[in-house]
Order: sequence, then C-alpha cells, then structure tokens
Amino acid sequence: MQFAEIVGQRRLINSLIECVKEGRVPHAQLFAGAEGCGTFPLALAYAQFINCTNKQFYDSSSENELHADSCGKCPSCLKYKNLAHPDLHFIFPNTTTKKIDKNNESALFMDLFREFVLEKQGYIDINSWLDFLKAENKQAEINVRDANSIIKDLTMTAYESPHKVMIIWCADRLRHDAAPKLLKILEEPYNGTLFLLISENTEAILPTIISRTQLVKVLSIEGEDLQTYLVENRGFETSEAEYLSASSEGNLIKALQLDEQNNKELIEMFIEWTRVAFMYKAKAIEIMALSERFSKMSRERQQSFLSMASDLFRESLLASMGVSFGVEMLGGENKEYKTKFSRFLNNENTERIFSLLKQAQYHIIRNANTKILFFDLTLKIGIQLSPNK
Ligand SMILES: [Zn+2]
Repeated sequence: MQFAEIVGQRRLINSLIECVKEGRVPHAQLFAGAEGCGTFPLALAYAQFINCTNKQFYDSSSENELHADSCGKCPSCLKYKNLAHPDLHFIFPNTTTKKIDKNNESALFMDLFREFVLEKQGYIDINSWLDFLKAENKQAEINVRDANSIIKDLTMTAYESPHKVMIIWCADRLRHDAAPKLLKILEEPYNGTLFLLISENTEAILPTIISRTQLVKVLSIEGEDLQTYLVENRGFETSEAEYLSASSEGNLIKALQLDEQNNKELIEMFIEWTRVAFMYKAKAIEIMALSERFSKMSRERQQSFLSMASDLFRESLLASMGVSFGVEMLGGENKEYKTKFSRFLNNENTERIFSLLKQAQYHIIRNANTKILFFDLTLKIGIQLSPNK
C-alpha cells in the first residue's frame, strides 16, 4: 500500500515521513485510533515506505499534500503490495474454525488474512474479520503460539530488506498469558526489526506494553477527505458521499456499511413502489401513503432513490433481453421479482420512465413539493407499465 491510497490523514503521514527522513524510526510504535480511520493501512503504507528502495520525495510543503511516498514499483514495493514480502509478518486475532480446529495461530490463517486485507483495501475491522473466518461468535485472540512465532519469525528467517516488520493487529486482543512474551521481545529489540502495533482500544493493552512503544495517534478521517475519496475512488455521487461522510463520523468502514444497508433499503422500497405502481388504478391510498414516506426522506436520499430506480429499471430491461451487466442489484431473493417485472418493460416505455425519473430529480433539486411529486410520478410510471395504456 502506498500513502497515496490512504484516505486523508496527510498531516500524520507527513510527520511519519519526517521521522524516516531524519532516521529516527522507533523500534516499536502503536498506531491507535477508532475503527475505520485507517490505522492498519497507515501502518502498512509506512512499512512499505521504509523498505522502498526508490522512495519518491515531492516538492511540496503543504500540510494537505504528501511530501513523499514509496515508489510502488521496486521489488520490495511489489512484494508489499501483495502482502507477500518475506520480511513482513502479521499477527492478528484468530480462533478455531471448522478447518483449523486445534492449535490455531495467525500463521495458519495467513492466506485468508491476506485475501481479507486485499479485498477490504486495508480498511479492516474485527467483526468483518470474524465473519470472514466464519468464527461463529467465537472469541478471537492473539495467543501464546502467536507470541512464540513472533520470536521464531524474527530469529530464523533471513533478511531481505533493511527492516523486518512485525505488524500486530488488534494488540488489545493479546491473551494475558501471551503478554509477558511480547513484553520481553519489546524490551530486548532485535536489530533492524520494527514492531507496529495497532489498536482501537488501547485501554485494554497492558500499560507495560504501551510504555515500550511510541504512540502514533490516528484521528478520524476529516469529513471533506472522506467525501472526496468516496466520489473519486468509490464512484459515489456527490450527494451520496456527503450523506455517508456526515453519518459515519470519519469512519470509512461505517460509511461503506451504511451504503450497503442503504442500498438494501432502497431496493426493498423500489420493489414495494413498483408493485403499487402496477396497480395504480386500485391503489390510490397506498400510493398516497408511499408518497408521504418518500417526502419524509431527505432530498439527497430521494435523489439516491431515483438514481437507483433508474439503474434497476435498466437492469430489469436488460434481463428481459437475457443480458446481464456488472453487479446484479436485483439478485438473490429479488431475482424472481425482476423476472416477472421485466416482462412489462420494453425499450419504449423504459425510455419514457428514464425521462420521468430525470424530470423528478430535476424538480427535487428545485424544491418541488415531493409528496405531490412522488404521487404524480408513481401514477405516470404505473401508466407506462400498464400493457393496455
Ligand atoms: Zn518502492
């Protein structure tokens, strides 16, 4: 991971770069910060930077711009990118699973962990990890075998880069009987070894461990940075990004989970809405009630709904032609509905529906009365869906 891939946190990154430049990298650091602020990707990008053989320094003194980054192309960076550098080690909470039902330790889950981190683009959280592990409500910890393997990894394997890096994710989940071992390692540092501990909950870490590390305090992501990232890197509309950024308090993981939840709700609403629209002649009261509900949503959310409705109409029309594209939004349990629904769509009426949806979006921005707007829109879409209009 490169610093450029980190969401916001430019001031902190520049201070880390400064330490590397001045050759004062402490042997043990504790990246502490709340969920979704980026402690893990920061530690990873920092380690990659330290070991990069072709560091790039930029001509900028602005606090909001990166002053340097790893090159992303040297052999060390390429191995880091795949989390496959022989001098990069990970310790993380683990438990027994169906596959590994005894003597569990991080090393046995390394392939899975790598896959998890790459999928989440570094922004990981413990609950998603437990789901990924299929841990089924079991408590995950860093145990004595993990502590022993830290010593083994650091003493037995050969050095390829100037610094060996040991990343300990969720250091607060260290079992009490493993703590003295880690403490001993931190007390007698191995030459050229960096310990990067990561925690959301530093109060649960032994004070003796904390006192042997240097604290890197990671703050929540600034709202504006999160919003820009969601638009530029994740393809969100500005209004959606604004809503997600404001509702997630600088927590990228929460923002993405909110989006997932939102989408689910909007899809359910779309199904309910189109069902009523089909029977517009007999369902005036239901249409009224639904319009009332729409009118109570924020204007940003109304816009998101209409833009998603547009996508769902397109997906259904294509499904009726036997074409599929991208990620299926009306899949799984909603697939049957899509199949039935798509029979009423053709190029002609879908085109008209698109234009109705677009007009509605336009009027929402212009502060139209949205209760009337949705009532009217539902009737017009109902007419378009009716076979003998
Ligand atoms: Zn490099």
